[in-house]
Amino acid sequence: MELKLVAPDAPDQAFEGAPDRITSDPGPIHSMPAAARKTATTRQDRDSSVDEIYERIYVAILEHRLQPGTKLGEERMADIFGVSRARIREVLARLAHEQIVELFPQRGAYVAKPTIEQARDVFEARRLIEPAVLRRLIETLTPEKVARMRQHSELEADAHRRNDRRAVIRLSGEFHTLVAELAGNSALARSMRELCMLTCLTIFLYDAPTAQSCRNDEHERIIDAVAKRDRARAEKLMLGHLDHIEGSLNLGQSANEADLEAIFKG
Ligand SMILES: [Zn+2]
Repeated sequence: MELKLVAPDAPDQAFEGAPDRITSDPGPIHSMPAAARKTATTRQDRDSSVDEIYERIYVAILEHRLQPGTKLGEERMADIFGVSRARIREVLARLAHEQIVELFPQRGAYVAKPTIEQARDVFEARRLIEPAVLRRLIETLTPEKVARMRQHSELEADAHRRNDRRAVIRLSGEFHTLVAELAGNSALARSMRELCMLTCLTIFLYDAPTAQSCRNDEHERIIDAVAKRDRARAEKLMLGHLDHIEGSLNLGQSANEADLEAIFKG
């Protein structure tokens, strides 16, 4: 059973320095008539800040700065980002649609806490999708795509060297999203992005003491197999890689059972 506990409020530092407005160049808008320009600018501002806020929450969760179960209060978020509550609601609805945020009537929005069953479902889906992603990537492979993956792997290795755990967690999740994007199927890429996010929340919740995020050398081996267009090996390595991630998590028993042990036997 999943208990919906109210976690401590969102740490403000996750959103520090959020700009009120995006200051990107509006480009061709300048050549429009004044009335049209006003509408276009307003729409662009709104879309940019919804994207921007969405992205900041996304990265904060990926970097484990924002924990599962954290309440995302509309008013507080509106203050932090300097936007209206309606705009925050828009962002929260989008995150809820992707199962990253859970909305409760009367109580508001919380960062999702995937149950053990949901966590297992996520890995099952990844085992089906990621070999398909690799197949498509190998079919459409170019030297540029290999270079992009190597570049990403370098960033991961660098984060490991610097012992930057936040960057390591984020980059290892982003590797899988990048591979799906390079494969060139937008539906697969979108699914992968959501599944990576849910994996990230799962790792946060069910991290065993020995758990680690994706091992960088495993990503490198997958890239090597893809670069050689060795489909069978790439798929096998990916499935092994997913087994390692899932196997390092505490999905054997529910957290509630573990808590009871600690309470009554401690
Ligand atoms: Zn990985």
